[in-house]
Formats: sequence, structure tokens, C-alpha cells
Amino acid sequence: MTTPRARLTVLAGPTAVGKGTVSADLRARYPQVWLSVSATTRPPRPGEVDGLHYHFVTPEEFDRMVADGELLEWAVVHGRNRYGTPRRPVEERLAAGEPALLEIDLQGARQVRTTMPEAQFVFLAPPSMDELVRRLVGRGTEDAEERARRLATAEVEMAAEPEFDHVVVNDDVRRATDELVALMGLPAAVD
Ligand code: 5GP
Repeated sequence: MTTPRARLTVLAGPTAVGKGTVSADLRARYPQVWLSVSATTRPPRPGEVDGLHYHFVTPEEFDRMVADGELLEWAVVHGRNRYGTPRRPVEERLAAGEPALLEIDLQGARQVRTTMPEAQFVFLAPPSMDELVRRLVGRGTEDAEERARRLATAEVEMAAEPEFDHVVVNDDVRRATDELVALMGLPAAVD
């Protein structure tokens, strides 16, 4: 008898490692992979579609979702906006025996670890700490204090890696996405 595959996969990792890029690649090349659509109080960026990239909600609506127990997990990310995973679509998906994927921050991953320990937890890691710092600092427009703050955050976030079941290195987006999909037990894209 084979062990049943974990049906819920949680992808998390440090800030700026490229979780959003991996999600975008997944949507483009693996439309059959069901990716949870989070609720957020952050305003949409240009090109973001309500209901596709996020459910963009007011702080009052987010409060209501929390109070009514509609979120599987939620967190304040970067000390600013709130983000959370609507519970019902995930439960419906899993009840149908279909795999589901959450792309959330580390605080959210820890909450899911508590409430759904049977999920599999995947840490998206940078190829190196130097590369993560390069991605974090970006165009170098931040001042020295902001750079130091981001570096400190990155170090704390990288220390979470041993909490995860699998590590996928984001050295190449397509390769990382393929590896994630394989961990979910789904066939690789043919293109
Ligand atoms: P962004 O605003 O750039 O789309 O996302 C910022 C961060 O929020 C990312 O690290 C992303 O993983 C995280 N995030 C997105 N959705 C959720 C969610 O539903 N729950 C939690 N805890 N974090 C989320």
C-alpha cells in the first residue's frame, strides 16, 4: 500500500525569494493546479485582477471574515496590510480529493502547521544568502538603515527553513515551479 499524498501544499519562504514569480509561472504553465486566492487589505497593483490574484477587501470586510472564522490563517505582512486564506474553497477542494496550494508568508505557514499538520510544507529558498540580499535590496534605492533592516529580516526568515518538509531552491523560476508541482504529485508541464 502506498502512503496517501499530502493533498494540501503550503509554499512559503523569505521576503523577495520570488514566491510571487513562482505563483505567476504556475498560473501560466499549470492552469490545472488550484492555487488559493487570498483576501488582502492591500490595494491592487496595476494589472492585478480582483478574484484572480487576490480578493481585495476593505479592512472592515477583513475584520468580518476573521470574526466569522472564514480564514484558515491570516497575518499582517511587512507590518502593513493583512492577508488571509479563505477557508471554504480550500476545504471544498480537499474534500473533493484534489490537491490545493497556498502561497503565503511564514507566519501563515506556521498557523497552518498547527491547524492542518497533515499538509506538506515547502520552503522556497534563494540560491544563496548573497543572492537573497541582492533581490531584497533591489535597485539599491533604499538607505543604509533600510538595507540593514531588510537583511536582518532575511536572516530571521531563512532560519525557518528546518521547520519545512521540503526545500525548493529558486535558482530558476521554471525549474523551481516544476519541482513544486512534482512535490504535489502532479505531472510536469510538457512545454
Ligand atoms: P504581495 O503584497 O507582494 O502580493 O504579497 C506580500 C506577501 O504576502 C507575500 O510574502 C505573500 O506570500 C504573502 N501572502 C499572500 N497571501 C497571503 C495569505 O493569504 N496569508 C499570508 N499569511 N500571507 C500571504
